[in-house]
Amino acid sequence: MTQKIYMAGPSITEHEIKTVADAMINGWYENAYDYVEKFEREFAAHHDRKFALMTPNCTAALHLTLMGLGIKTGDEVILPDCTWIASAAPITYTGAKPVLGDIDPVNWCLSPKSILQKITPATKAVIMVDLYGNMPDYDQILRIAQERNLHLIEDAAESLGSTYKGVRAGKFGIASVFSFHRTKTLTTGEGGMLLTDSEELFKRCKFLRDHGRKEGEMYFNTEVAYKYMPFNVQAALGYAQFQRIDELVGKKRQILSWYQKYLNGIKDICLNPEPDGGVNGVWCTTLVWGNRYQLHKKEFIKKMDTFGFAIRPFFYPLSSMPAFTKWAGESAKTNTNAYDISDRGVNLPSALNIEEAQVKSLCEAIKKILSHL
Ligand SMILES: *Cc1c(COP(=O)(O)O)cnc(C)c1O
Repeated sequence: MTQKIYMAGPSITEHEIKTVADAMINGWYENAYDYVEKFEREFAAHHDRKFALMTPNCTAALHLTLMGLGIKTGDEVILPDCTWIASAAPITYTGAKPVLGDIDPVNWCLSPKSILQKITPATKAVIMVDLYGNMPDYDQILRIAQERNLHLIEDAAESLGSTYKGVRAGKFGIASVFSFHRTKTLTTGEGGMLLTDSEELFKRCKFLRDHGRKEGEMYFNTEVAYKYMPFNVQAALGYAQFQRIDELVGKKRQILSWYQKYLNGIKDICLNPEPDGGVNGVWCTTLVWGNRYQLHKKEFIKKMDTFGFAIRPFFYPLSSMPAFTKWAGESAKTNTNAYDISDRGVNLPSALNIEEAQVKSLCEAIKKILSHL
């Protein structure tokens, strides 16, 4: 019996263990933030950004960004209906209204057309999510944001290693956010990062990250703010993982290539797309099958379970869940792609310890299910 198959999980080596041990031993007193600063500096440079702030998680990074931009009650922020709740929850923390837009049928990210349909005089920002590593049509989106004077924020939690026309995910909009949750490609267990090129936004977010302290004066606060500071040991783990970034992203891409190989020949299915001139970092390999199969994801998951494989659904549209009833409005009617694609998609096991033989056996089960329909 080979080892268990996991949806997501990290690759931790001797290098990470040694780096964390170094932080444990030496990262105190004047070195209390040495790994935080090194990780922030190099992670920003890698993404061609000027400034970085590490946070306890990506949700906090997004909350900081929104607050830093002055998003408040009465404002509206457009984001895709299909994403993890963490893209949307911080909008509600500020009192602003999340407005859920439809997704593109090919890249599964928020569509430019839907943004245009959802803009109102109250719209202040758009949060783009690079879903499962896929990149949206940033040329059009940047143009819309500029023309309509909207802040563009990139939720790059799932797109470490992806590029769009040669530009790395994390470089789009006024700010971008990353997640280092234990399920993400690069992990610190819990952790996140905010990147920006705006010195003004950076300074404001840095101030809000640590209780609104007045610079140069001890224990003197000018506003009530937040406590979203990172821990040096957590940053040491992130820094060590970051030094292996090509290997980690390479493995994610290899996992997708195994699924492509063993699912080859099945009609009318698609996996994470990789348009010409782009790279997909493939945080998670995701399968969407065509309408011809008349198959709901819940049915598919049940069938996979009979083969002994636990897989997960494509993200539900946020507007379909009780948590978002208050903000759902007409979304179920307007976001037809989100509802349609989510119903016939699943996330396939993509943990960094998965082996080719395991992907092969998963694909054999998938083939059996789809060929019976
Ligand atoms: C994981 C994830 C987040 C949140 O990350 P945390 O670090 O858990 O707060 C945000 N957005 C997306 C799209 C994610 O996948």
